[in-house]
Amino acid sequence: MLKYLSVIKMKDNYLVKAYCMHETVRIYAAITTGIVKHNQKIFNLYPTSCAALGRTLTMGAIMSCTYKNDDTLNIYVKGDGPIGKITIEATNGNVRGYCENPGVLLIGKDGKQDLSFGVGNGEITVVKDLHLRQPFSGSSEIISGEIAKDFTYYFTKSEQIPSAVGLSEVFDDDEAATIKAAGGFLVQVMPGCKEEDLLKLEDRLSKMKPLSEMLKEGYTALEIINEITDGDYIELEERELTSNCKCSKERFSRGLLTLKKSDLLEILEQDHKALITCNFCNKQYTFTEDDLKELIDAKN
Ligand code: ZN
Repeated sequence: MLKYLSVIKMKDNYLVKAYCMHETVRIYAAITTGIVKHNQKIFNLYPTSCAALGRTLTMGAIMSCTYKNDDTLNIYVKGDGPIGKITIEATNGNVRGYCENPGVLLIGKDGKQDLSFGVGNGEITVVKDLHLRQPFSGSSEIISGEIAKDFTYYFTKSEQIPSAVGLSEVFDDDEAATIKAAGGFLVQVMPGCKEEDLLKLEDRLSKMKPLSEMLKEGYTALEIINEITDGDYIELEERELTSNCKCSKERFSRGLLTLKKSDLLEILEQDHKALITCNFCNKQYTFTEDDLKELIDAKN
């Protein structure tokens, strides 16, 4: 029974990793419908904000699966469009994130979400804590705002890995425009890939069905890989993706303890309580008078 339940959960949020072209090309394909839907609900995201945040969440989840288990990855998409800054944190297949303005709805002339205007111009920054002396940090310009193209550019420019990225989502036709499907893929060419294989891959990528169509038709992650490689791949692993927040009242208490005692006394006397909302999951924590007194005592 438990196994059956975990299978249902996997279907909404999971990633498949595969090799193709004589193991010189790595492919990661992810279905993130549950993660994007969850974030749409907790932040009450309007469709354009939802597409931008959802795609970046999917990218973060995929990228976190390309590193060793406990390496933490932070992504910042700092555009000057109405959506504002997008912040993502991902570790080992778990991803959380938020954008500055959840209420953006912009439809372009083509009837699609206008992410180009919504995200605007600016920079993508990726910070990876690989437990070395200094965290790795790379950045590149936002070239389209569509997120997928921007990350393709990022990998090629900043990490010198020739890559192809696809990120997309499908909304329900109803008024609420609930997320019906979301997902993405990352194709990375490793050193040693033969010229002819690279040409074959490029040709395939240019001819394959668009990701948005695949998601609309309910493709699985493996079916996406099958489409990209024309069936010529070796499956390596399948793993679950999650979107859990690690916030807690205790963590925020520690934050409050970094304030000066006089500031804490001021909050106690003026507001009699403190309300703190977690940026990453929108959960609100209340610190009552008694909680605040306890913190002030702890400062002594
Ligand atoms: Zn949280």
